[in-house]
Amino acid sequence: MQGTDARAVLDDIYAAFARRGHDAYGEGVNQLDHALQCAAFAERDGAPDALVAATLLHDIGHMLHDLPDDVADQGIDTQHESTGSAWLSQYFGLAVTEPVRMHVAAKRYLAAVEPGYFDKLSEASKLSLRIQGGPMSPEQARAFETEQFFEDAVRLRRWDEEGKIVGYQGPALSHFERCILNSYSRISDDS
Ligand code: FE
Ligand code: FE
Repeated sequence: MQGTDARAVLDDIYAAFARRGHDAYGEGVNQLDHALQCAAFAERDGAPDALVAATLLHDIGHMLHDLPDDVADQGIDTQHESTGSAWLSQYFGLAVTEPVRMHVAAKRYLAAVEPGYFDKLSEASKLSLRIQGGPMSPEQARAFETEQFFEDAVRLRRWDEEGKIVGYQGPALSHFERCILNSYSRISDDS
């Protein structure tokens, strides 16, 4: 049972990247390279398995729909953080799904509280920030800081900014299978 489900999560993740991993992420990097780079940096910085898995999968919401990859250019917010975290909740607990759900909010947070953060964002991120509601208000930022996975979401966000290096290939997807399986926590054993 456990083995079958664990294989299913890997199959579904591989299928999502196979379908849309070669879509442009922006600035010369595709979705798969972005995911692998971000996860490699999370691993480099000693993140626990669940946070490495969250980082690898944070943009999976972009790969679950059939919208064109330049929808942001058309002013459309696909809410990929919500669709992604909802999809991941089939397989993972909050340590994975919450940082994913919060990774856009973390950008809005950092743009509000950290001087210079906005200016360092890539052009694609600046555009999407505008569509996603812009920097948080001081009240929103304070509320965000009280969320349980606030710190993980901010850490994920920093790897997200870093993982846009043209020509740098992270490890293969298979390298992260262990993190995925160690984070997999479907509550099905007593059913
Ligand atoms: Fe994203
Ligand atoms: Fe991203």
